[in-house]
Amino acid sequence: MSEFTKTLCPYCGVGCGLEVSPPAQPGKATNRDSQGTPIWRVRGDKAHPSSQGMVCVKGATIAESLDKNRLHYPMVRDSLEQEFRRVSWDEAFDIITKRIQTVRYTQGSEAICMYGSGQFQTEDYYIAQKLMKGCLGSNNFDANSRLCMSSAVSGYIQSFGADGPPCCYDDLELTDCAFLIGTNAAECHPIVFNRLAKYHKKNRKVKMIVVDPRRTPTAEAADLHLAIRPGTDIDLLNGIAYLLMRGNAIDVGFIDDCTSNFPAYAEVIRHYAPDIVADRCGISVADLETAARYWSQSERVLSLWSMGVNQSSEGTAKVRTIINLHLMTGQIGKPGAGPFSLTGQPNAMGGREAGGLAHLLPGYRLVKNPQHRAEVEDFWGLKRGQISPNPGLTAWDMITGLEDGSVGLLWIAATNPAVSMPDLERTKKALLRSPFTIYQDAYYPTETAAYAHVLLPAAQWGEKTGVMTNSERTVTLCQAFRQPPREAKADWEIFAEIGRRLGFIKEFSYANSAEVYAEFVRLTRDRPCEMTGISHEGLREFGPTQWPHPEAAETPRHERKRLYTNLRFHTPDGRARFGAYHSRGLAEPPDPNYPFVLTTGRLYGHWHTQTRTGRIGKIRQMHPDPFIEIHPRDAAKLGITDNQLLEVRSRRGKAKFPAKVTKAIAPGTVFVPMHWGALWANEAEANALTHPESCPDSLQPELKACAVQLVPMSVE
Ligand code: SF4
Repeated sequence: MSEFTKTLCPYCGVGCGLEVSPPAQPGKATNRDSQGTPIWRVRGDKAHPSSQGMVCVKGATIAESLDKNRLHYPMVRDSLEQEFRRVSWDEAFDIITKRIQTVRYTQGSEAICMYGSGQFQTEDYYIAQKLMKGCLGSNNFDANSRLCMSSAVSGYIQSFGADGPPCCYDDLELTDCAFLIGTNAAECHPIVFNRLAKYHKKNRKVKMIVVDPRRTPTAEAADLHLAIRPGTDIDLLNGIAYLLMRGNAIDVGFIDDCTSNFPAYAEVIRHYAPDIVADRCGISVADLETAARYWSQSERVLSLWSMGVNQSSEGTAKVRTIINLHLMTGQIGKPGAGPFSLTGQPNAMGGREAGGLAHLLPGYRLVKNPQHRAEVEDFWGLKRGQISPNPGLTAWDMITGLEDGSVGLLWIAATNPAVSMPDLERTKKALLRSPFTIYQDAYYPTETAAYAHVLLPAAQWGEKTGVMTNSERTVTLCQAFRQPPREAKADWEIFAEIGRRLGFIKEFSYANSAEVYAEFVRLTRDRPCEMTGISHEGLREFGPTQWPHPEAAETPRHERKRLYTNLRFHTPDGRARFGAYHSRGLAEPPDPNYPFVLTTGRLYGHWHTQTRTGRIGKIRQMHPDPFIEIHPRDAAKLGITDNQLLEVRSRRGKAKFPAKVTKAIAPGTVFVPMHWGALWANEAEANALTHPESCPDSLQPELKACAVQLVPMSVE
């Protein structure tokens, strides 16, 4: 038997395959971290089709985080002023069950909320949906994916009639032109970017366009960097469309046969002449024309995007405007082409499949659709009408629900909203008002644990077997290779026990996670994300498998699949829909009082709020401190020098960062990484400044941009 266990990197949505082996092996020196502690060996899995053996620094160092600052036992306290006391699982389950029953009786099921995470395995997601939306009758399950990619979900649904990125990673090496917008893939999706960059380097005819207000490492590699003003993405995209129309570079046959609503779109884009667009975006007409030329000269164009597009008050419109370019040029359903959203988290895709947002049900179903509700009710053995027809509270709605007292119980799992939510001062005040907060996580302390009444220790990566789906729809079995520490349990086991204690014994009796997954995949039958041919056993035997993969699928598992190769979409008429949008710009544009646009983002080594990466020596050395990037021209105007401390103020709060004076950022814009919470640095929380204004369709907040003023602190 091999000493290696196959699993998946639990950080980003690239979903790299890993092989893990014990620290001590016969004939080899024990593997140790920088402090000399034995740690598991991790290497890339060469057989994994998505990553082909590659890993970035996060995946390579993940084992260091396994034993640091773990939460080992259930803990409770009556009020936030008290210390936690250790209790048994039995007592913790009892306290939670009684509280759920009390809240249901006094305020109704709608007062119960769960806020989960793209770190969940699909089994965790599925059982949470069954508990919340099925048995408790509350659709108030939302995940931190709401902050990450819900605009991509609504964009795909509105354009194609169903969610689901249509491309695969092999398209990175088959394209003629990669169009990256709102994604610093070199740092945030490194292995996807490595594949693209290697191919681009070898094939000089292949073009790479990067659209980003910052000159990121991704932009450095591009043939054309369009450093647009924040919030002008739709202007740029409509401007490219204008030039494609003017140059007769559109696919009239595809538009006629496969799409609808083109006339409305054509009416909008005629207002986006190059001089107008270049002026709004802050780029040259020549660069705009070059971008349109690269598009029109390419047989195959692949668009890639992530949070720079999604985290916007017009996120859905931006996603649909990207898709429009593919529809007008027939760039979809073929190798090397298509609109490809990159997911932030390792299993954000699994969450979408399992119904892990407040408006979704398992199997790419919608809460609002009566037939979808009936199908799930029948499958779960519920009475018709038991699932509420109203989408539940989103992540931000839960915060406002705490403010107005309508939320009676908040259960947070595997996420750290006291760092990652917008308008942190307001978020923290709301969390302080929570009558009862359960916090379920692998780590302690975290910033959010300070607001909990109950702490539940969760098993994490490597300690439970389950499934995750990456950005290219590849499903991988993440196998356990060690026991959870002390009393930690898998998230799905915790949810299932509460379900049983609430009286749903049969509904939540599973021998193991393989049974949970087997039940879930039956619910995907005849749905766009069908995976009835996938099981734990099959994944273990045959390896990672892309969906759709129905029972008796004829496509070999190793073959990469694309959606819409037959050019029929999931809309009622089978046609993809053009979306016609004018740009509305930023929700909070700069003004004389707050003259700079703050944009937030991520660094190569850190992950989210540093719950793991803050505990890894090599990564802390790489990125020891937060900072603010400012252009030399702005710095000179304000008399700011490199490393000088700046107080950054928005209408909601303030934070302090040392200045990094650099031409990488455009004048008028400043950049701050979002990884530092109160645990890691003093007053350096990026989200103390951001606002919760959201996209009306996806309800995703505009975490990417807000207006700020800069106040240089005196040099001591
Ligand atoms: Fe993990 Fe993403 Fe790095 Fe791959 S690219 S090793 S999935 S963090």
